[in-house]
Amino acid sequence: MEVFSVKFKTTEELPEPSPRLIDQVIGQDEAVKVVLSAVKNKRHVLLLGDPGVGKSMIVKAVGEILDEFDNFTPYTIIAKPNLKNPEKPIVELIEGEYKEDTKEEKISIPTQPPSLMTLFLIMIAFTVILSWLMGGLPESKMLATIAIVAIVGSLIAFVSIFLGVLGATKSSMPNAINPADLKPVVLYECKKRPLVRASAYNVTKLLGDVKHCPLGGRPPLGTPPHKRIVLGAIHEAHKGILYVDEIKTMPLEVQDYILTALQDKQLQISGRNPNSSGATVETNPIPCDFILIMSGNMDDVHNLRAPLLDRIDYKIVLKNKMDNTLENRDKLLQFIVQEIRNNNLNPMTYDACCEIVKLAQLLAGSRDKLTLRLRKLSNIIKMANDIALGKDIEEIKGNIEKDEYKSIGNSNKKVYITAEHVRKVIESGIYSLSKQVALEYLRDFKRYKHIVPNDEPKVGIIYGLAVLGEDGLGDVTKIITQIVDSKNPGTHLLNISGDLAKHSITLASALSKKLIAEGKLPLPKKDIDLTSKEIYIQFSQSYSKIDGDSATAAACLSIISALLEIPLKQDFAITGSLDLSGNILAVGGINEKINAAKEYGFKRVIIPEANMIDVIDPEGIEIIPVKTLDELIPLVFDLDSISKN
Ligand code: ADP
Repeated sequence: MEVFSVKFKTTEELPEPSPRLIDQVIGQDEAVKVVLSAVKNKRHVLLLGDPGVGKSMIVKAVGEILDEFDNFTPYTIIAKPNLKNPEKPIVELIEGEYKEDTKEEKISIPTQPPSLMTLFLIMIAFTVILSWLMGGLPESKMLATIAIVAIVGSLIAFVSIFLGVLGATKSSMPNAINPADLKPVVLYECKKRPLVRASAYNVTKLLGDVKHCPLGGRPPLGTPPHKRIVLGAIHEAHKGILYVDEIKTMPLEVQDYILTALQDKQLQISGRNPNSSGATVETNPIPCDFILIMSGNMDDVHNLRAPLLDRIDYKIVLKNKMDNTLENRDKLLQFIVQEIRNNNLNPMTYDACCEIVKLAQLLAGSRDKLTLRLRKLSNIIKMANDIALGKDIEEIKGNIEKDEYKSIGNSNKKVYITAEHVRKVIESGIYSLSKQVALEYLRDFKRYKHIVPNDEPKVGIIYGLAVLGEDGLGDVTKIITQIVDSKNPGTHLLNISGDLAKHSITLASALSKKLIAEGKLPLPKKDIDLTSKEIYIQFSQSYSKIDGDSATAAACLSIISALLEIPLKQDFAITGSLDLSGNILAVGGINEKINAAKEYGFKRVIIPEANMIDVIDPEGIEIIPVKTLDELIPLVFDLDSISKN
């Protein structure tokens, strides 16, 4: 099979990828189309999907070409003091170019009340001038006039002082007004259509805030409210896109605010911390007319309130795998070249690229599919690059931050990333925390496990297969069934967690009893009173959580063996789900399970026929596909031992 449609020795020979991010997104054509159309038509979108499949990449890519959609008039958001009510600063959005100097508001500074002393001096001067002018009048008239003037003057003085004091208490402006505090401040200048990203849990970043005015802190005490306003992402996204990720973490009251913002296209800002001086400040409603794009994992949607969910026009689920076709492998190659270019890595050999394809199949759980959880692949490529540059595993472990691996990049000497480097990353499990935990666990517990592959046939004992952790490391589990004569027949499960596993064992038990009672099994018949048998099933030394139904077939065989006392061969491990009609159904993690059987040294592994298309590497062990329980029974029971007896 040709892996790629182009022939090459190293990725250096391949053409440069497109610089436009939108052309770099692979495998998510449908999602890209929907987001583009939503943005064109001003609709809101919810992107759901596994981590690292390209949700933020798509939004970023669309953000890059936002200006191509329609004309955009730049705007500036400014804040001004409100002299009548300083706790309610005024926020204005100015379309077009904003010039600070010309637009500066003429703010009339309220005149300070004249002091008592000044008034007194003015009055004396006034009286002296008057008496000098009236020098010719008779003395008594002159005194009377002076007295009247003095009384009227004092009255005026008192009234003006009184009014002045009143005015001063009404305005909380400091007595000595710093003219700079009266100037409007620019909160935000938006020159091109914005794409603003915020995490759902970051309330102040999302909705804005009014900073506290602390004693001796920052901003300094006395900073007027309009200078303490911090715009929210919802305001900065005005006329553009607001991208909110991690919706699982969005507090309910924030959802209500976002809903209000979507409905009213404006929202005021007030201080978010109730203990802060900012809490008493509230602005007028500020425009926020944005396209909302939210993203999260599939289950996160339950955290969103129905009214907000109703406002979302498009809900898209991103794919986590694509078909393993030549065309898609070429896309994966394009992805490899992009990652090398975007992260400034060393070139990769042809064999290493093939190794990445193999890994993409493994992570997709099938030979027929390729994973689209590309962040993981990207990390693996970057880690392989650093291994090629001589970094050791421990150094690499230390460089992983929030799922993202930071590579050291390129070097001056010519180095190629080879298949060997890629394999080293995969085997060490460093690209996945859950894989590391699983490896660690297996290292610790494997040697204590009493798993003896290819041993003598035994009654009631069978080896099942499980997968540990999200990224899958296969493990072998010993299943033991014991029967006790009892007046309380029933099936008891030991060391099993997970409802699905419990239900599947109940099914296995019911089915085995039914088949034995009907006598339809291709096994020697035996008369047993099923109403007096108590069944105990143990998942012996299983430290992993069994939470699937892939051990149903194994459990069923184990129960039949124990009830009929016919030994089971021990040279195989088996995985497969079962339905009530005795059909063997497909299971997940087939490749990890086969690998585990190989590693433990089993000669054969029995898997559902339906899983055969998923098998990537069948070397090193005999793989036996089965469709029904009837087919399975002659393969696993040691019928020779019975005929001998
Ligand atoms: P998400 O938001 O779904 O968790 P990201 O968009 O952050 O995932 O993807 C992280 C990185 O993985 C991207 O920067 C890119 O390198 C790579 N990647 C993920 N999905 C794709 C994709 N569909 N096409 C190309 N690269 C991808």
